[in-house]
Amino acid sequence: MEVLFLGTGNAVNMSGRGQQSLLVERRVLVDFGPTALFNLVRFHGGAEDIDHLVLTHFHGDHIAGIPFLLLWLRDVARRTEPFTIWGGSGVDLRIGALMEATYPDIPLGFPLEFRVLRPRESISLADTGCTVAAFAMDHKPESLGYRITAGGRTLAVSGDTAPGPHLEALLEGVDMGVIEGTLTEPLPGVPHLDRASIAALASVVAPTPLAVIHTDDATKAILAVAIPGLLFPGDGETLTL
Ligand SMILES: [Zn+2]
Repeated sequence: MEVLFLGTGNAVNMSGRGQQSLLVERRVLVDFGPTALFNLVRFHGGAEDIDHLVLTHFHGDHIAGIPFLLLWLRDVARRTEPFTIWGGSGVDLRIGALMEATYPDIPLGFPLEFRVLRPRESISLADTGCTVAAFAMDHKPESLGYRITAGGRTLAVSGDTAPGPHLEALLEGVDMGVIEGTLTEPLPGVPHLDRASIAALASVVAPTPLAVIHTDDATKAILAVAIPGLLFPGDGETLTL
């Protein structure tokens, strides 16, 4: 399985990293932050063969690139086939509102479909060879983590989340986990992972490799010293599992 990291940074581009986006098996996008189309064009050449986008939650650093992706599909790819956006409850309303706020006057010319995923639901994206299973995360009410399986290999992606047993359930038995590394120390009321919670998680799921994104270089330096063995892919990097 091939995972191209299109954006490995936090919401505010610290350390010059793009906001969160991954491309799995060259066919399935996970999250699409404001910088994602820029990096998709740079590192993958565009979105020609991509039919599916899966969203972890509806914060802007995970969805705000979608209007530009849809414009690219319309104007560059001259797309006529459906494009499907999968996400938690409200995905149609939230992404519909985003399009309404940005390009209400531009018909897409291809069917844009929305599909709600519920925790514990598993779907097969037959045309991509991937299956996607949703797990409830702890960040926003709609937050989901995903297991994506293709060719006998399974990737887990947490999206943004506070620590807890839900993460251990998501990561149990997978071939690689992609987790967030937003904080060094916990902040009250801020539902993100930090050094101590990532260290505890890494020891529970060992030897499963963990790739840390949604981070910055200063946080990365602290996490790398405290927790040996973590992976820190950069924008444009591909990991194969
Ligand atoms: Zn985020």
